[in-house]
Amino acid sequence: MSRLSKKTLQKRRRSESIHSGTVYQQKVAILEHLQQALTPENAQWIQPILNRVGRCKPAYRCNSKHCPTCSNAKQSKAVRKKTKQLKPLGKAQATTTSSKSKEYRVRGGQRMMDAFEGLPTAMLHCFTVNLCLVSFDDDLKETKERYLLKLRKVLNKLTDGAIARGKFDIVSKYADDLPSEFPDIDLPFGVFNAALPHTRHVMLHIHFLLFDPWMTRVELRNLFAKEFPGSNRVCARRTRDHTVLECGTMVGGAQGYLEYMCMEKVELSFGDQSADAALEFVQIDSTWDRRNRNFSFGKSISVSGIVIDQDRVKYLERENRLQWIKKNWSKLSYAEKFIHQWMSNGIDILAGIKSLPNYRAQFIDKFSAVLLLHCNWVRWNFFEVIDFVGFMSASDSELALLEPPD
Ligand SMILES: [Zn+2]
Repeated sequence: MSRLSKKTLQKRRRSESIHSGTVYQQKVAILEHLQQALTPENAQWIQPILNRVGRCKPAYRCNSKHCPTCSNAKQSKAVRKKTKQLKPLGKAQATTTSSKSKEYRVRGGQRMMDAFEGLPTAMLHCFTVNLCLVSFDDDLKETKERYLLKLRKVLNKLTDGAIARGKFDIVSKYADDLPSEFPDIDLPFGVFNAALPHTRHVMLHIHFLLFDPWMTRVELRNLFAKEFPGSNRVCARRTRDHTVLECGTMVGGAQGYLEYMCMEKVELSFGDQSADAALEFVQIDSTWDRRNRNFSFGKSISVSGIVIDQDRVKYLERENRLQWIKKNWSKLSYAEKFIHQWMSNGIDILAGIKSLPNYRAQFIDKFSAVLLLHCNWVRWNFFEVIDFVGFMSASDSELALLEPPD
């Protein structure tokens, strides 16, 4: 076998590991490829990675995104024990209490979490904004600065006391296979939206957790979407409550999202070109460092002195539930739909009674509608089968059997 074909075979094997191996195999393959590709010209950006990972020890973690141990969340040794009092549900809380984690992912997530500690989760939103497409010869530090200004322009429109913490990130993509649509101004020189080429670029994006004491998630999303137009560029999700497992471990919640940002994932699934893609990625990734990726806006409420309006929290929590109901309406059982309609119409009537006599004109119609709903429930003998207390304590499988006759 000739020398060249042996090299080609090795590269193909590495590409395969990077494309479909376990995290460990991927990292080892990338490191092997970097070692192989090392020349005096590229040593400037390859050698520091090899040196850093080479020094990694259990007592002194390198925390490199290319390290087979440190970047592997499955091998995580971060202890997540319940060591302090749990806050009531609906409040943001750090999931880890170990103050000196050796892992950058946990430590970084924890540091960003400090500003949000104790805030109502209904006021925290998980944002992702796809900023632009970058060529491999661009400088990420400069590009990021440009988009930071645009982001700040939006953040300055938020309510006083708003807080944002997050990380800029990059991912390799084919230009004709992007998850969102970019206007030409956010594409590299010579690349146009009308005819996207099948060539690799990196997509600069940002993940951040956002707190605003007054605006709803939809209002916030619309503000960002106006500054960053194009379909699927801005994604805003609600922050889930943390879950307490039986062993006392806490998972999820706001810190889960912040830790996800600090994972510094390297995704390079490009089939037999994965090894080449790894080299490109490492080169452009050397144009910024961890500090450049940080994103921070606003001060924690202990500093800003912002007072949270509890009525507003209740309103936002109710909005969250209504949105969930809207999304899942077809999946709800008859009994669940009935209770929702009966209760929400009832609340409407109660609110109306306060403003009598103006309300009297509509009162009869609304009241009749609620009464009709209730009569239907009773007429179908539903109330004999299950009352409200029974409904609340019934399991999902029991509820599924409770469909009204047609
Ligand atoms: Zn390491």
